Amino acid sequence: MRADTFPFILTLGLSRLGSTLAVPTGSQSDTLIRSSFTELPSVNISMMASTPVPKWLSDFTGLTEWPGADPPYIPLDFIDLKSLPNIPPRAPGVCPPDRSTCSFDCFKCISFDDAYTCPTLSQTFDDGPSPYTPKLLAGLNHKTTFFTIGMNVVRYPEIYNQIKNQGHLLGCHTWSHKFLPELNNEDIVAQLQWSIWAMNATGSHLPKWYRPPYGGVDDRVRQIARAFGMQAVLWDHDSFDWKMETSPPSRTADDIYSDVRRWKDSGVNGLILEHDAYLSTVNSGIEVSKIVGAGQMTVAQCVDSIDYINTFD
Ligand SMILES: [Zn+2]
Repeated sequence: MRADTFPFILTLGLSRLGSTLAVPTGSQSDTLIRSSFTELPSVNISMMASTPVPKWLSDFTGLTEWPGADPPYIPLDFIDLKSLPNIPPRAPGVCPPDRSTCSFDCFKCISFDDAYTCPTLSQTFDDGPSPYTPKLLAGLNHKTTFFTIGMNVVRYPEIYNQIKNQGHLLGCHTWSHKFLPELNNEDIVAQLQWSIWAMNATGSHLPKWYRPPYGGVDDRVRQIARAFGMQAVLWDHDSFDWKMETSPPSRTADDIYSDVRRWKDSGVNGLILEHDAYLSTVNSGIEVSKIVGAGQMTVAQCVDSIDYINTFD
């Protein structure tokens, strides 16, 4: 692996959390609904790409290096931006006045092709791959689902392929973890296309499943993702494991285990949201796996569907 080339630090996050949005009805003053975010409001990612940009991608994009956190939009002939729903971009934390755009982050709205639950209690892990992911892989005794950030995929390709080679399911969690409803159409395409290319260049497959960061999805985002053949994956149970990483921590591992035991004991099923980005959340993920016990499913198994749109090896 080459040690490439353009190290940088970025802060991904919701720096405008709490800002207001011009809602087209003009009636937002008394109808604003604040969404609750389900991840750390700011995630530090530094990147040193290791996956080479393959020739097919370089020929297509004209770029020989992976992009930074604001990747360029590359037009694709199978995506017609003019046919998309006319839903204006909205800032994180501020919601439209009604459910008509079917936002999950604001209204927990589910669309017809969203995967949002599972017949068994089953873990899912977002935001990797990370240097802590191998510890999680060593501690799990079942197949699970990882929603990976494209910038991390090309930074940690060996860990990505370790996940794949151990038979887990890999899904897309965008290129750089943006709140997608805030972006224009071109930038949403860019967030998806570059993350798909990262997964293809690294793992030789095309994802079927994506999880929108912060649960930020509405019918405009969904329609763009459908053009790539992808379906959104949401969740039933939030572990809020990232709250162990706030300063000071606003949640303990025991808080998480207590919730999971309650779900288990009450017999509820469904998808649990966790993260493999931190040592603390990897440790809790291993313990949660023990509490849940046998019977976990991958997201594709949960909805009796395919793992990938295509695989090339
Ligand atoms: Zn995330």
